Amino acid sequence: MGTVLLLPKGSARTVPALQIRIFKGVFAIYYSKEELERLRIEGEKKAQEMLDVVKDGREYKSNDIDIICVHCKHTKFDLGKALLNSRELTFFDLDWLDKSAVTLICKRCGYIHWFGSNVVEAK
Ligand SMILES: [Zn+2]
Repeated sequence: MGTVLLLPKGSARTVPALQIRIFKGVFAIYYSKEELERLRIEGEKKAQEMLDVVKDGREYKSNDIDIICVHCKHTKFDLGKALLNSRELTFFDLDWLDKSAVTLICKRCGYIHWFGSNVVEAK
């Protein structure tokens, strides 16, 4: 998959697992039953992986250092953004804080970590 075949008009060609036919400008893709089943299983697997990420959180780095929960040492978080914008900041001469911050909420204990600079997802 992931390959685009450009075939001359009127020609027909078969590739493993799926078949592409072009006849008089009509373009058709034929999947075998096995290929459809494989795609279905692959799609379900991908969907499950996405659900797992939502459920379990992701790992992040800041300044190239792995982020670990300061409370429980867990390594997976939910990423969020918070605005640091209030009159109180001006009152306390903290206008430099008047921007957005990244929050990482620990998936295990819920401790909220604040970062003034960006964090990146650890691979
Ligand atoms: Zn924690």
